[in-house]
Formats: sequence, structure tokens, C-alpha cells
Amino acid sequence: MSEQSFSSNDPLARLQNDLEGAAQDTLAVRAGHVRTMEAEHAEAIFPTSSFVFSSAAEAARRFPNADGNIYSRFTNPTVRTFEQRIAAMEGGERAVATASGMAAISSLTLGMLEQGDHIVCSRSVFGSTIALFDKYLGKFGITTTYVDVNKPQEWEAAVQPNTKLFFLETPSNPLAEVADLRALAAIARPHGIKVAVDNCILTPTLQQPLKLGADIVVHSATKYIDGQGRCLGGVVIGNHQDMEKVFGYLRTAGPSMSPFNAWVFLKGLETLRIRMQAHSASAQELAEWLEQHPKVSRVYYSGLKSHPQHELARSQQKGFGGLLAFEVKGGQDEAWKVIDCTRMISITGNLGDTRTTITHPSTTTHGKMTAEAKAEAGIKESLIRVSVGLEDIDDIKADLARGLDHL
Ligand SMILES: *Cc1c(COP(=O)(O)O)cnc(C)c1O
Repeated sequence: MSEQSFSSNDPLARLQNDLEGAAQDTLAVRAGHVRTMEAEHAEAIFPTSSFVFSSAAEAARRFPNADGNIYSRFTNPTVRTFEQRIAAMEGGERAVATASGMAAISSLTLGMLEQGDHIVCSRSVFGSTIALFDKYLGKFGITTTYVDVNKPQEWEAAVQPNTKLFFLETPSNPLAEVADLRALAAIARPHGIKVAVDNCILTPTLQQPLKLGADIVVHSATKYIDGQGRCLGGVVIGNHQDMEKVFGYLRTAGPSMSPFNAWVFLKGLETLRIRMQAHSASAQELAEWLEQHPKVSRVYYSGLKSHPQHELARSQQKGFGGLLAFEVKGGQDEAWKVIDCTRMISITGNLGDTRTTITHPSTTTHGKMTAEAKAEAGIKESLIRVSVGLEDIDDIKADLARGLDHL
């Protein structure tokens, strides 16, 4: 059922939103919602595994073509509302929601790639993405070459006749390297290669990769889209043709999003821009404060004027997000001391939460890498990552100063 399916003399018609030409903030709070006959103001949750037919004949007609709601592994009204809203916010034709961010990346690759295909991937992507590509896609003859996210010439040199996908995150986590999305799209297009961007660190409120030439966006909705550390979820966004392939995999293999989680993410989208602005403002202030601190040797944040790609970041982002990293003077002992001296900030691997979180990448998220691989990736023992939350910025600074001031 789409908004168009209500004719003008239908009493339900005025209950629906006319969003023709609406801006992103309006879409964030209203897109995708089709009101039911109950005239509910906020979106309903549809916790149902299947849907009924009015007759055997209707079931026989609709079942083979998956026409309308049949079973929640395929479609569910709450999940569809989330899909339509995030697709509208990213400027994409269609979204496919999944059970987690990794389910989004596996549905994208398993749905769209064939045996023998090749991926060019940024070296600086989420660790499980690399494990998925190497350990699992590799089993089925899909190979991956890793390159520096911020060196377009490496992407160009890695292209093979069977290359079908570029995959990256920008800015990268934790070192905030910025990809030139327009340049990568220009390299990919003549070869018919699809460019997929994991946009989970900035969200569509701060960066819209599809408008910069990317073909596909993926998210871990677990991070800022929820924003309060409650639910796992993910989503893939792109054109109808590509998303039909991703959906075909999802409805068969089944890593579908639950309606309850979709409803939590819908609520998250409504406040996403103002939360991202607040996360960004605090991260900017913290990055500038850390940069001046005598015990800090380097800060990684694309919002800093000293960031080598600050101008590129400004040209493709509307803000710089809530994630930053810094190196303390010394090594692992000093980094651990700063982490262990905190009394409020949460020591946890998650990011994109209202609560500030802190991690030591070298021994946690990047702990499985060899010393050489860490050196190549720039993950030093003195590196600390902070996902800046929505607490008062002075309390966040004071909590970090406890350890930093005593090194
Ligand atoms: C967390 C994360 C993922 C994986 O998402 P899950 O929801 O944990 O499966 C993928 N990409 C990035 C950038 C992430 O931060």
C-alpha cells in the first residue's frame, strides 16, 4: 500500500502526509508512514509474523509474486516505514532493512556478487567486514584487494576485469581518513563497478554518498540511527534494480529486521539531525581541547583545521560527526591509564550512543591484527578512540583530564 493508493474521495486520504518536495528534516519525521483506519498519529508497530488473505483465490494470486504483505521475513509494515524513511533521507530509490549492520553488508554482497567477482575495499573498514570478505566470501571464490581509502590512484590500480564493487567507510574509524567520493565514483563508473559506502559514522544528516556519486549506502542502524545503544539493525539503500537483488537474498536467507527494532529506529531517525549536530559540536570542542593538551601527541578528527583532508571533508560532509581518536605521549601503559582513570565514560567497543564511550583499538577492535598490519594501518599502542556522547562537554573533558593530567 503506497500513499498514492488512497484516492481523493477516500476518507483515509487526508490522514496521509503530502511530502512532495519536502526537505530532509521533514522526511526524517514523516516519510514512509501510511496511517491505518485507526488514524494513529505516531507509527504503529506490527508485531506479526504473517498476514491473512480474504480467500484461497487471493492467496493463490498473491503468493507466487510476493504481492503485498505475506510473511514478515519478506515485508512488514513497520519495517517498510523505516525503509522508506531512510531511503528518502539518503536520496535513494529503495532501502532493504536487515537484522544488523553486518547482515546489511552480507546481504549486499551475497545478493549482488557472483562467484569469481572481485572487490576493492578500503583497508580501514570495520573489522567484521574484512572477516566477511576474506573468510566467507573468499570460500565462494569472491576475492578482495585492500587499498588506502584516501588514495584514489590505489583504487584505480587495483581494478581487475572482474572487479564489481568498491567498498569503503568515510571518514574511517578510528583514524578519520577521508575518501574522495567523487574521484572514486569517476574511477568506478567507466568499468561498471558499483561504489558502496558504509555511512554509519556520519549518517545521511551529515553526508549523502548517493549525491556524491556512490551507488549504494549501507548502515549499521545499531549506531547513531538508534543512537541510544538498544537495538541491532542495518539497512542497504540504492536503486530499484540493485535493491531487488539484495531483497531477493534477504527474503530467502532471512536476516530480516524485527518490527520492534524498526520502530525504535524510526524514532531515532526523527531526532537524528539534532543529535548528530550535538555529537559533532562536542566532538569538535573535545578535539580542539585534546590538540592543545601537553600529553597528547596527535588528534584524528576531520573537523580539525590541521586534518590533512579537512577541505575535502568540508566539501562532501555537512558536519564531522561524533567519533575521534588521539595518541597520548607514551605507549599502551599511558593509553590504558587514561582509559582506567575515567569514572563516567563507558569502556566499551560500541559507538554512536548518547553515552560517551572509550576504547583502546590496538588491543580490542584491532587486537587480532599482526604488529606489521597494525603499523601499516597506523593503529599505534598509544591510540585511544572516543565516541563523544551527549553528556555535558565539560564533564567529558574532566573525565579524560583525570588520566591525562597525571601521565
Ligand atoms: C558496527 C559497525 C558495523 C556492523 O554493524 P552491526 O550492527 O554491529 O552488525 C558495520 N560498519 C560500521 C562502520 C560499524 O561501526
